[in-house]
Amino acid sequence: MLNIIIFGPPGSGKGTQSAKIVEKYKLIHLSTGDLFREEIEKDTPLGRKVKEYIDKGLLVPDKIVLREFYCRASEHMDSPGFVFDGFPRTIVQAEALDRMLNRQNIPINLVISVEVEENELFKRMMSRSEDSGRSDDAEEIIWRRIEVYKEQTLPLLNFYTKQGKLATINGMAPVDEVFSKISHAIDTYLEKKKILSDIK
Ligand code: ADP
Repeated sequence: MLNIIIFGPPGSGKGTQSAKIVEKYKLIHLSTGDLFREEIEKDTPLGRKVKEYIDKGLLVPDKIVLREFYCRASEHMDSPGFVFDGFPRTIVQAEALDRMLNRQNIPINLVISVEVEENELFKRMMSRSEDSGRSDDAEEIIWRRIEVYKEQTLPLLNFYTKQGKLATINGMAPVDEVFSKISHAIDTYLEKKKILSDIK
C-alpha cells in the first residue's frame, strides 16, 4: 500500500492536488472536509452537528472525526493506498491514525506539506468564496481557520518530521508546477523504497 498525507493550511490547494495524485497513482482520496460537506448537503444528523463547528471555522471534535474516518477508511482497506486530505488535523488524530494503521501493519509512507504564505491563502479563499458556495469561506471565518490551523494542526509538522516522513513543497506556484514537484517527491520515495527492498 502507498499511503500519503497531504498536509497544509486551508486554501493551500490540498483538494486540487489530492485529485491529481489519486488519478496518477490510482489511490483512494479520503477527505474529511468533503465527507462532512456531503453530510451537510444531505442534511443528516451528522451533517447538522458538524455544521455548527465548520461554520464557525472551528475543528470538528476528534471523536466525531475519528469515528467517521474509521468508517470510510475501513471500506477501502484492500485498495492500493490512500491520500488523506485534511486528516489528521490534530495530534490526537495523528496518534489514532498511527495506532489504526500499526494494527494492520500498514505505514504512512509520506507526508507532503504544501507551503503557502498567509496573505496568499486569504486571497485564494476570498476569491473562491463565490464559486465554492462554502459557508466557511467568509472573511472572519477564513482568519479563524488560519488561526486554528496554526494552533492545532501545525504541531503535526514536528510529529511527522520526527518520523522522517515529511516532504515540503512550495505551494506558491501554478497548480501543474506544484503537482510536478509533488510527483517528484512521490517518485523519489518509491525509488528509494525499491532500492531498499532490492538490497534486502
Ligand atoms: P480547508 O483545508 O480548506 O479548511 P477542509 O475541507 O479540509 O478545508 O475542511 C473544512 C472544515 O471541515 C474544517 O475547517 C473543519 O471544521 C472540518 N474538518 C475537516 N477535516 C477535519 C478534521 N480532520 N478534524 C477536525 N475538523 C475537520
